[in-house]
Amino acid sequence: MTLDLCSVNEGVALITLDRPPLNTLGLPLRRHLDDALHAAMADDAVRAVVITGAGRGFSGGGDITEFDLPSGGHAPLPGPQLDQLEASPKPVVAAMHGFALGGGLELALACHARVAHANTQVGLPEVQLGLVPGAGGTQRLPRLIGVEQALNMVLRGSTHSAASLRDSGLFDRVTDGDVVREAMALARALADSGVLRRTGALPCRMDNVQAFTAFVRGGLKTAPGGSTAPLACVDCVEAAATQPLRKGLDVEAAAFQRLRHSPQFAGLRHVFLAERRAAHLQDLPPGTQTRQVRRVAVIGGGTMGSGIAMAMANAGLSVLLVERDPAVLERALRTLRAHYESLAQRGKLSSETAFARIALVAGAVDYDGVSQADLVIEAVFEDLAVKREVFERLDAVAKPGAILASNTSMLDLNAIAAFTRRPQDVLGLHFFSPAQVMKLLEVVRGADTAPDVLATAMALARKIGKTAVVSGVCEGFIGNRMLESYLMQAGLLLDEGALPQQVDRAIEAWGMAMGPFRMCDMAGNDLGAKIRAARIERDPTRVYSGTFDRLVALGRFGQKAGRGWYDHISGQRTPTSSAEVQALVEAQSAQLGLQRRAISDAQIVDRLLLALANEGFKILEEGIAQRASDIDVVYTAGYGFPRWRGGPMFQVEQRGLGDVLAAMQRFSDGPAYQRADHFWRPAPLLVRLAEQGATLHSLDNTSEAA
Ligand code: NAD
Repeated sequence: MTLDLCSVNEGVALITLDRPPLNTLGLPLRRHLDDALHAAMADDAVRAVVITGAGRGFSGGGDITEFDLPSGGHAPLPGPQLDQLEASPKPVVAAMHGFALGGGLELALACHARVAHANTQVGLPEVQLGLVPGAGGTQRLPRLIGVEQALNMVLRGSTHSAASLRDSGLFDRVTDGDVVREAMALARALADSGVLRRTGALPCRMDNVQAFTAFVRGGLKTAPGGSTAPLACVDCVEAAATQPLRKGLDVEAAAFQRLRHSPQFAGLRHVFLAERRAAHLQDLPPGTQTRQVRRVAVIGGGTMGSGIAMAMANAGLSVLLVERDPAVLERALRTLRAHYESLAQRGKLSSETAFARIALVAGAVDYDGVSQADLVIEAVFEDLAVKREVFERLDAVAKPGAILASNTSMLDLNAIAAFTRRPQDVLGLHFFSPAQVMKLLEVVRGADTAPDVLATAMALARKIGKTAVVSGVCEGFIGNRMLESYLMQAGLLLDEGALPQQVDRAIEAWGMAMGPFRMCDMAGNDLGAKIRAARIERDPTRVYSGTFDRLVALGRFGQKAGRGWYDHISGQRTPTSSAEVQALVEAQSAQLGLQRRAISDAQIVDRLLLALANEGFKILEEGIAQRASDIDVVYTAGYGFPRWRGGPMFQVEQRGLGDVLAAMQRFSDGPAYQRADHFWRPAPLLVRLAEQGATLHSLDNTSEAA
């Protein structure tokens, strides 16, 4: 046996999956596994085989970057390779630690026995990428743990610790000890017994399986045009319970092939990879170290401050919440306690954990304790004078090297940094509401922010489970700046002939979580009016529909007032459209001398989407976003953009930039747009790329190489 393929110990060959960081099963690792297995089978001294993973885990699964490459189609392909492994005459045992996900778990399922460390995370997450497991997972898992539990895991794409599945039948042994040693011992025992348990040969039965799967199908909500992967998962698991293994594997393979060519998979894969890319800072000097963050101070105990405190406590960080108003502080701490107690009561957290999290948060009405903090996050009123007062004070009391962050949504971060004598330690951490829930975190890089401060913020984001994107300084950063163009366009659609409910319905049917007018009602139309006024003061050429101001003049402030773009009747979940609002919209068109016309849903969607993307190109050109795919992450993680559509920049890239330019030209030709002509002026970067026949993707590659 060639020693570099595997080592042999008392008749057991140990094959190590070694492809850092995740041991993904791309072609090189599949080839290595194939060669090593062949060598082991051919070697008479080998009686059994153990497969383990090097480094942090067993295997993170297939390599999704390989799908479009020729190597993705090269033998050994995952499915046939695992069928062969299962048929092996010598026992093969999987020794798992860390993680065994997707194709990694499928490999373990095809082995004749499985030993896992109790902490190993296992799961088949393919459905989250719009796929079904493609290497026998839907056929072998139900044979080991039963149809119902397997379908649950496959449908949710959830991961579980081996300890929690100890009695499921998935593992032959779950241990806190040395998995490889125990797997070797088991492999020897299996070789001695001469009995091999092949997963695929096990029966897979369930009484009334068709009734069960029909029930599950009935409960699946498929967004229009959204992923059909969940339904395909049900088909595959049903096939496992009703057909012979070979037929079931064929059903799975056909579903996998169909889904991997679907636009949903393309979008979901794009976002999956974009999120990982976003975590990397492009120009970080090599060897940059992060600063230590153990204690956090949050200034301001309002909506955002209390949410941020919870986000920190959830990650085990100790928090001092500083609020100038004792009554507000008391309320914030009460709400925080009630939140954790309710989680414990509903069984979502153990009471021990809930109590520990409550104990991590202390409150104060003075800044005395702030000097202990490694990181201070300011979340006081959105007013530069108030921010000045707070940052001057922080500059005086914070310890040297402490990171000073602002949660400002719109203010100039460089101006805030200049209130201190340490602008290198200042950055923006723009959380979204509710901060303990929303995934997105915009990390705002000031002109002087030090690289290690940025690197620390990105590491902190990972620790607290946020999806971080770096943004430069501009009004509204990436997300809110683009949102403003989107809302502006939504208003212009009203002037021309649409009604708020039609705009919302069209874009929600397309997949957005919430249409622009429902969103404005939720955020508060009075707040929107303030933001608009400030923007128009700075840039009078901005074209907002007058309907926004007419609405506020009527006191239709939104949900909180019971009336906004819609009537919000208490006790009713869905808002109702309002005749008063319709009259207001029509009056505005009349005032502009516009003949209202029918606008198709398709055009509504197009105009909203291109409004977003055009601003995205400007943001990219100005260097506010590091890469186009970061913009997609902002929109999918923070603004309810459907993940399976991949984000606004992915959408226009797929469509073709030349076509996008032509559509924008058509929109600006409409009579209603003479007054809003510059709205559709294309971003110079868009024009340049379209003229060169280049793609956003090529831009990402160039800038990353630079
Ligand atoms: P809020 O009005 O709910 O809370 C602000 C709190 O700060 C108040 O409780 C106030 O008493 C306190 N405060 C004011 N001056 C203080 C001082 N000197 N020291 C200590 N506490 C002080 O406001 P919010 O919605 O939580 O917003 C806070 C910041 O977060 C703003 O900059 C806002 O733009 C930003 N933001 C808000 C949202 C949102 O959806 N609400 C989202 C992202 C960012």
